[in-house]
Formats: sequence, structure tokens, C-alpha cells
Amino acid sequence: MLELRDLSKSFELHHQHGARLNVLRGLDLRLHAGECVVLSGPSGAGKSTLLRVIYANYRPSFGAVHVRHAERWLDLAKATPHEVLDVRRRTLGYVSQFLRVIPRVPTLDIVAEPLLQMGTDPHEARQRAADLLRRLNVPERLWQLPPGTFSGGEQQRVNIARGLIVPRPVLLLDEPTASLDADNRVVVAELLAEARAAGSAVLGIFHDEDMRERVATRLFPMQALEAA
Ligand code: ATP
Ligand code: MG
Repeated sequence: MLELRDLSKSFELHHQHGARLNVLRGLDLRLHAGECVVLSGPSGAGKSTLLRVIYANYRPSFGAVHVRHAERWLDLAKATPHEVLDVRRRTLGYVSQFLRVIPRVPTLDIVAEPLLQMGTDPHEARQRAADLLRRLNVPERLWQLPPGTFSGGEQQRVNIARGLIVPRPVLLLDEPTASLDADNRVVVAELLAEARAAGSAVLGIFHDEDMRERVATRLFPMQALEAA
């Protein structure tokens, strides 16, 4: 599903001329269908950076991000912007730590949008969005409102629903349950188990031990970084 080879990412340190911060150094990782690999390691170890490099928000400094897409392997490090968009639409899902709020768009449409983009019938797309919002305990009175004024946990559940509505082969999750209560964490764990049973591979960051025990099939430790 996903194969990282000798992946490195460094950032320029602007205050020190020529110096770079090596956040990811020669990282190798294979992610298979049905797996849930949880990234572990201290704050600043580069966990979020790794997910952003895989999602092609950042280009790697070196190495390859091979993703299984449309029945072939594609190196996202060398993909065109058009290929990246197509991979994001159909193959690679990403749930960030916070919802990026789109002003004025009702919650139900925010969640349904990834399905609509794939050409799903609008009625069916909204139905699926409603099912997910109901499972994630987002009250129905909120569905027609934009999520700008929702609580942190409500926004995050909208974010999760939007990220999971298309059954994509690879799911990247950056602390999706950080602001959720115990009951809703259980729901998220169930949704991830269902995605895995349907063949998705999950790569995620979960800080609480509870969630890790529920979802992880394997831990991938990351070390704190060094400047060079
Ligand atoms: P946390 O557990 O606190 O979320 P993390 O493991 O997710 O930590 P990252 O967010 O990946 O850590 O950050 C790793 C390091 O890379 C940090 O020192 C951060 O300052 C640095 N970094 C991340 N993005 C950039 C950037 N765009 N420019 C410069 N430095 C960056
Ligand atoms: Mg992080």
C-alpha cells in the first residue's frame, strides 16, 4: 500500500546560515493492507512532518514515497501536482489535528464533499455523511450549520467524518482523537477497525495509551532529531 525508502527531510535553520535541521533521516517503512502502524516518539521527533511528507505537503529532501495507486506504484516524491491530487482523492486520506474550517459551508456538505468529488450521487453522499455524523455523535441540529463555532471535539469529529467518508487504501491520522471523550474514542477505534477490515492501511499518531492498545498492530518508534 505504502513504502517509504531512505526518506529524509531537513529544514533550513534561518537563524544559522547554512545549517539544517534533519527531522527525518533515512527512514524505511512498509505499510500493508489491514495494518495500523502507530508512530511513537517524543514531541519534536518528526511524526507530523512524516505524515506531511507522505501527503506531499512537503517534498522530501531525499528518498521515495511509493504509494499503490490505480493498480500501480507511484513515487509521490516525483509525482506531478495533478497526480498528487488524484492520489489524495482516491488513495490517500489525511486527518489533521484540527479541522480547516471553510466559512459558510454547512457541516453535512463539508463531510460529503470528498464523495461528491468522486462523482457519487449527491443524495447518497449526504446519506453517507449523515450516517457517519450520527455514529460520531455529532448532534443533528448542527448538520446544517458551518462548524466554525463548534466545540473542539465537535470540529474534530466533523474532521474525522470527512477524512473517512471515502474508503481509501491508506489513511494518515495526526492525533485525531486528542480532543475527544472516551466514548467517541471508542467510535473512532471501531471506524478504523472497519476500514482495516475493508483493506485500508492506517498510519497514525495517538498519544493516549488507550487508543494505541485499541488500534495499533505495530509501533514505529521515532527518535528526537539533531541539527547538522
Ligand atoms: P508533537 O508530538 O509535538 O506533535 P512531532 O513529532 O509531530 O511533535 P513535528 O511537528 O514533526 O514533531 O516537528 C519536528 C521538528 O521539525 C520540530 O523541531 C519542528 O520545529 C520542525 N519543523 C516542522 N515543520 C517545519 C518547517 N516547516 N520549518 C522548519 N522546521 C519545521
Ligand atoms: Mg505532531
